[in-house]
Amino acid sequence: MRNLIETLVRPEIRALNAYHVPPAAGLIKLDAMENPYGWPDALKAEWLETLRAVELNRYPDPQGLALQTALREAMDLPAEMGLLLGNGSDELIQMLALTIAQPGRKILSVDPSFVMYRMIGLFAGMEYVGVPLLAEDFSIDLPATLDTIEREQPALVYLAYPNNPTGNRFDADDVVRIIEAAPGLVIVDEAYSPFTDCSFMGLLGDWENLLVMRTVSKMGLAGLRLGYLVGPSAWLAEIDKVRLPYNVNVLTQASAAFALRYKAVLDEQTHAIRVERAHLFEALTHIEGLHPYPSEANFILVRAPEGRADALFAGLKERGVLIKNLHGAHPLLRDCLRVTVGTPEENAALIKAFRDVIDLPSR
Ligand SMILES: *Cc1c(COP(=O)(O)O)cnc(C)c1O
Repeated sequence: MRNLIETLVRPEIRALNAYHVPPAAGLIKLDAMENPYGWPDALKAEWLETLRAVELNRYPDPQGLALQTALREAMDLPAEMGLLLGNGSDELIQMLALTIAQPGRKILSVDPSFVMYRMIGLFAGMEYVGVPLLAEDFSIDLPATLDTIEREQPALVYLAYPNNPTGNRFDADDVVRIIEAAPGLVIVDEAYSPFTDCSFMGLLGDWENLLVMRTVSKMGLAGLRLGYLVGPSAWLAEIDKVRLPYNVNVLTQASAAFALRYKAVLDEQTHAIRVERAHLFEALTHIEGLHPYPSEANFILVRAPEGRADALFAGLKERGVLIKNLHGAHPLLRDCLRVTVGTPEENAALIKAFRDVIDLPSR
């Protein structure tokens, strides 16, 4: 079997490790940009009541039309633009690649950014080109990016706005210059839109190659797996052709439509996260040796003292707090850790654990 695996599986897939999600049982989970707040009991009860009407023996509405209407209303989407739903925005990234991929076609993004742009490009047989961000503040190196676009002629460009894992939001003028220079589609990925006041949603239509992608994951519905792509209908009609039938299941359609009716609850939670983000940032700056970077997302990137990221990560975990260790993920992320903004109590536990661990004599 070994032999057959070696001959059959594409070498670029053989070289990969499967996407690893570390076990988090019993830990304060600040590693995955989840909203830490649950729903009030009365709301939960009403949600469960709406699920009674869901028919599990039937296939879902293929386009999720009721959910589309709920999304358009709740998220104030431009009426003249098309809308396409995905099983998480990850699936939309995959659909975009399947629509565009041809031998020699390239995906471009900035580095470090969301790893699925590169991974899914590779799955679809596209080459990935990453332009390093500026080391100082993770802003876009505009001359280098424009040069690379000119040279590589990417069919797809992804910009996470704000960016993951760095948390900063790129200069809007830089993004515009990239949209205008790109020969192909530019997807502005607004996964963190609940945590910033800036968006390209209102600019859709100004350029024929601009699409905006969002998800309900970071606003508090990560378990549902629902992403959406907004842009000119002519583009979305093509991308819709590679969508697997019934990609958004009945429970997700019903639950998301329900949750969006109570978007005020989610808004209150994301607002609390923004307030807590400022407190957490402040507290992190007061820990000797830590350097937090400003964030417009629901997480903060922190640079640890040189050579200590692995030990800090392990020490926090021993004290019951799980964060993300990015040391080794990219040269610009040397000594970097990423912490999701939790509840006030969770953040206090994080800060206490940081203090305890960092005070230990190194080594
Ligand atoms: C989390 C994240 C996503 C993935 O969202 P899902 O809808 O959960 O698949 C997409 N883009 C960025 C930049 C993210 O950080």
